[in-house]
Amino acid sequence: MRKYVFVVGGVMSGVGKGVASSSIARILKDGGYRVTAVKIDPYVNVDAGTMNPTEHGEVFVLDDGTECDQDMGNYERFLHTNLSGYNYMTTGSVYLSVIQKERNLEYHGKCVEVVPHVPLAVLDTINGALKHTKSEIVVVEIGGTIGEYQNLIFLEAVRMLKQKHPDDVALVLVSYLPLLNKDNELKTKPTQYAVRTLNSAGLQPDIILARSAQSIDDKRKEKIAFNCNIPKHSVVAAPDVKNIYEIPVNLRKGKIDMLLLKKLGLRKRENASAQWRKFALSLDGVQKTVRIGIVGKYFSSGSFVLADSYRSVIEALRHAAHQEKIKLELDWIDSEQVQKKPSLIGQYDGILVPGGFGARGIEGKIKAIEYARTHKIPYFGLCYGMQLAVVEFTRNVVGLKKAHTTEADPKTPYPVIAVLPEQKEYLALKKYGATMRLGGYPAVLQKNTIAREAYGKPNIRERHRHRYEVNPDYLKVLADAGLVISGISPSQELAEIIELPRTVHPFFVGTQFHPELTSRPLEPHPLFCAFMKAAKRESL
Ligand code: GLN
Repeated sequence: MRKYVFVVGGVMSGVGKGVASSSIARILKDGGYRVTAVKIDPYVNVDAGTMNPTEHGEVFVLDDGTECDQDMGNYERFLHTNLSGYNYMTTGSVYLSVIQKERNLEYHGKCVEVVPHVPLAVLDTINGALKHTKSEIVVVEIGGTIGEYQNLIFLEAVRMLKQKHPDDVALVLVSYLPLLNKDNELKTKPTQYAVRTLNSAGLQPDIILARSAQSIDDKRKEKIAFNCNIPKHSVVAAPDVKNIYEIPVNLRKGKIDMLLLKKLGLRKRENASAQWRKFALSLDGVQKTVRIGIVGKYFSSGSFVLADSYRSVIEALRHAAHQEKIKLELDWIDSEQVQKKPSLIGQYDGILVPGGFGARGIEGKIKAIEYARTHKIPYFGLCYGMQLAVVEFTRNVVGLKKAHTTEADPKTPYPVIAVLPEQKEYLALKKYGATMRLGGYPAVLQKNTIAREAYGKPNIRERHRHRYEVNPDYLKVLADAGLVISGISPSQELAEIIELPRTVHPFFVGTQFHPELTSRPLEPHPLFCAFMKAAKRESL
């Protein structure tokens, strides 16, 4: 059995199409089906690895090393599963596969055309995801909006599939209804235009998800139904919610599960939604507040603050806060501000420095780490946040004042963070795409450490995305000065987790990998929970 749910966006992007798609996938899974998800990014970039996070949001990394859109994180979190490169495609990756096939004579001398060959390659990838994950239903999100030129080949793929298998394909349009203050009315005309645009691509939506600030009323539903040619009950309300995990609960209220299953000729096999519902609805009920400061630099775009660059970090903190029954208060601290005034750090119960690249803003981050270390404020460093903690420790505890990462200062006399030899080659050849240390790698944990206690087991596997490492030549110097290498690669060469003993600091931990990528709502990451516990003690 192969069933397809396509989710497209009308009117404008950024209205939660990814979360809506993840929620649909979750709802179908809770209905007893094996479900997977595919994200299509319309960019020509072959993957998201070469995109700036302030422009595109967080670069999410899968266990197999695929660098992809942050929505993939939502799919993994909502489906509680690991996805792979089969679940992600871009315009660039599709064209690359077609061109490679052509070079390999796999079109047997035919003239290769944009249509049908590119849409056929799109469908091949989608079917590959179904096959690889042994799923029965795939939810495919087409990024951006339908009016965009670059989405034509993807819409054409949907049309071709629908034409051949009309009973196996459902099309959901996520459309935003602006609210005009003047008369407090949700406006439906943009949605009507969006449906016309879909019609001109030979497609008609089966369901319209009406995204809006408030729930859509009956009158507006009727208007959309009449003008867009669909039954009124197929217009499903999707108002703003306090937390994204409520969305599956809300959509189910609009009976989207029944609508989709009916369209696909299926029946509900079971109703396993209770666990999710309980989690989602208990998120806002706690009193105790813990203040966490995130020190970073990918926050601002013009006059907007874009927390999207750190989506998974925020979600992982929320999962752990829920487990520890804490109300989380998150503050964004611009690293350049901390450099001027390190005492800014003093007001927080915990400080987190997430991943990052380049030299800008890092002296501020190092100052923040120093303040957290010397004032015993719980500190959690992720990737760059771990590397900079090692730099800080080398400078201020070991006493090598000019220590640095060669990423920021290639000529430092004490390169405590440096690139491995194979990375040097990539950089010399300008091979930047997909060449970092990427994806899941194993690590071994040392006994009697915060890390080992948190995980409760000696062997772990975690996801990476970095070029630089703690320089193996410095491991002994660091250990002699009191830094504990609590997680190490099986070869005993690469530091994976560093920490300070509890006798010295309540919680000072850094990971070379990205634990935020594998935290799940119903299974928060153990290190995030340990950090949250320490911050909670701090706030007492
Ligand atoms: N810039 C650092 C490196 O490449 C850290 C990367 C990250 O934080 N993801 O090693």
